Amino acid sequence: MLRKRLIAATLTIAFTLVNGYARKPGEPFKPGINLFSKDQDVQLGLQAAGEVRQKYKVVDNRELQDYVTRIGKKLAAVPEADKYPYTFTLVYDPSINAFALPGGPTFIHTGLILAADNEAQVAGVLAHEISHVALRHGTNQMSKANFLQLPAILAGVVTGSNILAQLTQLGATGFMLKFSRNAETQADLTGAKIMSQAGYNPIEMARFFEKLEAEGSSRAPQFLSDHPNPGNRVKAVEQEITAFPRTNYNASAGDFASVKNQVKQLQATYVKQNPPSSQQGAQGVQAQPPAPPSGNFKQFNGKHYTFVHPDSWEVFGSSDSGAVTVAPRQGVVQKGQAGAVGYGVIASFALDEDNSHGDLRHETSDLIKQMSRSNAGMRVSGEARNVSIDNNPGLMTPLTSESPFGGNETDMLLTVARPEGLFYLIFVTPEKDFRNYQKTFDDMIRSLRFSN
Ligand code: ZN
Repeated sequence: MLRKRLIAATLTIAFTLVNGYARKPGEPFKPGINLFSKDQDVQLGLQAAGEVRQKYKVVDNRELQDYVTRIGKKLAAVPEADKYPYTFTLVYDPSINAFALPGGPTFIHTGLILAADNEAQVAGVLAHEISHVALRHGTNQMSKANFLQLPAILAGVVTGSNILAQLTQLGATGFMLKFSRNAETQADLTGAKIMSQAGYNPIEMARFFEKLEAEGSSRAPQFLSDHPNPGNRVKAVEQEITAFPRTNYNASAGDFASVKNQVKQLQATYVKQNPPSSQQGAQGVQAQPPAPPSGNFKQFNGKHYTFVHPDSWEVFGSSDSGAVTVAPRQGVVQKGQAGAVGYGVIASFALDEDNSHGDLRHETSDLIKQMSRSNAGMRVSGEARNVSIDNNPGLMTPLTSESPFGGNETDMLLTVARPEGLFYLIFVTPEKDFRNYQKTFDDMIRSLRFSN
């Protein structure tokens, strides 16, 4: 209950700051409420960038890296970018996307360059990303979603300590690249201003978004799932532009046609040398699976909920927080600086992004979208069915993704509508082992009780 009131209070404050007055085109936005310091944004971003560099292959071509850096630096130099230590890195990924971590590290997919018609369109996406950094949307969303647990963690953070690992354990980092529609509007309009000041025609940002929308749902670009259309995106940018001083837009960092050609060739060579299925083997030795659970159970008593779990499993995360992982130690494998759960259970509350209180199916589908963003390849694998959990309506949705132990993974998702927000519990095993764990799972679910 407490948790819900606090989150509601936070949302109200943020709402007043943004919408408390009629905004005129061109007027700057202010960052929303944030429990992180600006330095902590930078520290978190640097650590997360280290992980990104392990996950993606950075394009090994000086000329191309210099090219994206020149565009980025031009944009980052305007006052709206707020002097964060921005970096711009081109990585191999055929999907149309770019993303920025708190504090400035920005990554550009090769697929984005290939989809753009001109340099200003690439600049448009980068200006949008820079705006998310400058307006601190990543840590703002994390603050809103973890209002109770974050202060203790952040108070204990000293320079050089691994803030990312602590946040990952809390399950908080899922919100780092997940933006609300409100944040999207701010990033679009601030991005347009940044472009204009740097000498790029901001209308190209709107044109590029229009082009992505036109791709339709069959080829829905990843950019649009990370950055949902707040509605009338193109119109809003066009209206914003009317407030800017008339300028000659003549910025250019190089010959875009030749850059695009180079990316095309490198991308083709890269795909040939690294066919998608070879990724598993490249990681080398496969982790050893944990021993099956003994059949004896232990009680987990959290502040918001309780359940039983196999006595050989450990609780990761604090029982006070809304988010815990309960898993056999061998079921959690190291992935970069964070852990990936291959066997075990993750329980948490989700952030109700668009305030759609109450509609369990809608909130569940939002949560699945959000999870599939940070777990590439995660998808629904069967019919959702209604269940009742401790007298609350619940939904059981089977998902599948890639297991860190090799092959497919079964992710059985339970969502329950609670007054504190959407509760979820994911039961994770490799697909081939799911039958052996089914009884354990059923026993755990049956024991689940919520505190009032
Ligand atoms: Zn965005």
